[in-house]
Amino acid sequence: MSRRYDHARVKEYWQHVWDREGVYETPDEVTDPEYVLGMFPYTSGSLHMGHIRNYAITDAHARYRRMAGDDVLHPMGWDAFGLPAENAAYERDTDPESWTRACIERMRDDLAEMGFGYDWSREITTCDPEYYQWNQWLFTRFLDEDLVEYDSATVNWCPDCETVLADAQVETSVAAETQRGDGEAVDYEGATHGHAAGGVCWRCGTPVERRDLDQWFFTITDYADELYDGLDDLDGWPEGVRDSQRNWIGRQSGASVTFDVGEYGDVSAFTTRLDTVYGATYLALAPGHDLVDELAEHDDDVAAYLEEVASTDDAGLSGVETDLTATHPFTGEAIPVYVAAYVLDDVGTGAVMGVPAHNDRDHAFADEHDLPVSQVVEPVDGSGTDLLEGPYTEDGMLTESGEYDGLASSAARERLLDHDGVEAATTYRLRDWLISRQRYWGTPIPIVHCDDCGAVPVPDEDLPVELPEYVQTTGNPLDAADEWKHVDCPDCGADAVRETDTMDTFVDSSWYFLRFLSPHFEDAPFDQATADEWLPVDVYVGGEEHAVLHLLYIRFFTRALADLGLLDRREPVERLINQGTVLHSGKKMSKSAGNAVAPHEYGAETTRLFVLSAAHPAQDFEWTVKDVSTAYDFQQDCYELVADFADQRDRRRRSQAAGPVRTESEPHDAYLEREIDRTIAAVTEEYDRFRFHRVVGELQRFARLLRRYASYEPPYLFAYSRGLRVLTKLLAPIAPYLAEELWHLLSEDGLVAEADWPEPLRDVSDHRIERQLVRTTLADVRDITDVVDIDDPDHIELVVAAAWKYEAYRIAQRADPDDAIVGEIMNHESMQAHGDAAADYAATLADRSKGLEPIVDGEQELEVLQQAVWLFEDEFGADVTVRRATDDDELAGKAKPNKPAIHIS
Ligand SMILES: [Zn+2]
Ligand SMILES: [Zn+2]
Repeated sequence: MSRRYDHARVKEYWQHVWDREGVYETPDEVTDPEYVLGMFPYTSGSLHMGHIRNYAITDAHARYRRMAGDDVLHPMGWDAFGLPAENAAYERDTDPESWTRACIERMRDDLAEMGFGYDWSREITTCDPEYYQWNQWLFTRFLDEDLVEYDSATVNWCPDCETVLADAQVETSVAAETQRGDGEAVDYEGATHGHAAGGVCWRCGTPVERRDLDQWFFTITDYADELYDGLDDLDGWPEGVRDSQRNWIGRQSGASVTFDVGEYGDVSAFTTRLDTVYGATYLALAPGHDLVDELAEHDDDVAAYLEEVASTDDAGLSGVETDLTATHPFTGEAIPVYVAAYVLDDVGTGAVMGVPAHNDRDHAFADEHDLPVSQVVEPVDGSGTDLLEGPYTEDGMLTESGEYDGLASSAARERLLDHDGVEAATTYRLRDWLISRQRYWGTPIPIVHCDDCGAVPVPDEDLPVELPEYVQTTGNPLDAADEWKHVDCPDCGADAVRETDTMDTFVDSSWYFLRFLSPHFEDAPFDQATADEWLPVDVYVGGEEHAVLHLLYIRFFTRALADLGLLDRREPVERLINQGTVLHSGKKMSKSAGNAVAPHEYGAETTRLFVLSAAHPAQDFEWTVKDVSTAYDFQQDCYELVADFADQRDRRRRSQAAGPVRTESEPHDAYLEREIDRTIAAVTEEYDRFRFHRVVGELQRFARLLRRYASYEPPYLFAYSRGLRVLTKLLAPIAPYLAEELWHLLSEDGLVAEADWPEPLRDVSDHRIERQLVRTTLADVRDITDVVDIDDPDHIELVVAAAWKYEAYRIAQRADPDDAIVGEIMNHESMQAHGDAAADYAATLADRSKGLEPIVDGEQELEVLQQAVWLFEDEFGADVTVRRATDDDELAGKAKPNKPAIHIS
């Protein structure tokens, strides 16, 4: 029999059996299965390390829950539309569909190779008309519900990709910060510090330009408040993601202050610091503010400035003074009006009141342009401020503010709202979701433009609007598809043209988790009854780079669908896990960085085991050859252990020479039996908490113990074979091929993938304390033999403390740490009988009262140590006795609860 495990040799067989038995299929009729979902992959060529980690996590959880008795839904599909496919096809002189289909074939094979168990009968591909017809259907439903707008808009335009980009697809320093998910609040005042200024394309890094185009939008801002407030209840989501979404939605409460600018009417500025209004020494308008366009027509300086701003990525603190003045609504003074690039037109109102004394940006701008700095808030404690150095941005007490002098900032913000020209206001950083893309490889927007009827939605019976055949052009291929483009108007029958924009691919992924529930449903995107019962997604796993795009859109879609009467839930995902990054030499492993290590190099199952064993799912870790080979060695160790056992068993059956075994139990077998139970309990807890790295650590220890046990004395068959079965089952979620092989070697029935999760046979709720006890006692004996330099001890005596000490310990544990603990303990009659010894021990406990760890009681301690005697004998080669302390015992004084006295001779 081969002693080496070769995953490549067995994988096809087990895949075949899993498929034949339909192990991973979820019948439609099951009730509320555990819905485990990894963010479906973009079809970019082949699996990379990030995918493997993502799907290893979902697969391990799905397998664990299946064995634990749940029905499990674990589907897979393909995020197949999008610009990268179009670019790749362009480079390779093929078409996006052929390229995408080839990627899907390769990636499906890669997933199978890793042993991931998916319900392939539910596979979906977003570039199939059967899928994207529902994007179109939903678009028209959204249109009916006023969730769609068609508007001329200044949009972010990537000249290289020749497409519009959503704000979230423009990378700026602020966007990068919010996307990092580190929970750091992005501080911006009204319209400053916003997004999409001077950014670059998220795909190609080209500086983004501005253009005016007619565009389709989903009005996600209708849900801004609900999406914001709902975050508070998403307890199963990482705080970092929730913070990112809060920052992205950017809800700020404050006030709008109206300034009179003479012949141009009024300008409103948003501020969160109304208490500083008396300190406003100028008014600044964003270059894109409506008023600025008018000004530019007759003011050459303004016109020149607009050109300057348009031609730079970093306009910094530049600005131009206009010939306007604004009347301060409180003081009546005339203050200058500037156009300044640091004010963004798409945040707040596109205008800010400049308060150099109390705002960082305004202070810097005033410095640059020699504007007055006027302090109107001072520290409450009377400490000074140096406004030449920098602004005073804290709250404080008002000064130089007329009738409001002496008010605290917070009170002033309330009172000032009553003034003419001031209104309470809330602003959001979130903008409506621009879904138009001027590219081919996406869902055609189901609209026909008619000269008479306007934009007419394509009727349901004419859906799907399928993509025309691909033609290679640097512009939009849909525009070039003349025959496809020209149609009759659905309303009046006149000549009309189709909309040639396609949808942002984020539309496809905003509801795909619903399609998996009823992938072949023909009357609607999904079967509502199933969705109402099976949602939410119980566990969703993916990268944290999706914190503000995809993960906000699925929340928006779920709410919109609920309002359309298609769902009864408003949040789609119960528990969200963001897996960390796999690094190689400190860099993210990716093909573009040239450091991806193909999953096949070390055997797919080894790679999978390695990524789970290396770290907690949320943490980054470094890919190292050493750690991969540790995972490989662990597989081999498990295989050898079980193969040896099976070999001996077969030899005995054939009456050949074989190692001895026992069918009668001895004392040390009790240790193994209890350790099997402790391992089940510990590993189950780790699986429940997604700590697969700790599962691997537990199983490595357990495999070593089984090996040691089998070589210590002939194994007791009943306990040992149970240990091997338990090892195999606990391994099955993280190394599925190996576990099937082991299960087969053990001559067990059926598939381990469908076996029942093991249960402890005894109460091992104290398993952590018990193990700690054995571990520290072993370490203590080691220390003593080292210190007194005993190479070869004859006898080791472990003396478990007297019963009264456990009682004293329990009293101290229960006591309020602020109480007089010594008195508390010595109040008990049973303690007084032990006189000074009890008082001394009580004093020790009082010192440690805040750090008293949980313990097992004396009887249990005695039993655990007695079971572990063989470990001491094996390691130190000495006779070992374990006993309870007696009253006249000289060792009794040293023994403490869960800290036996040790005597070595
Ligand atoms: Zn680009
Ligand atoms: Zn018409």
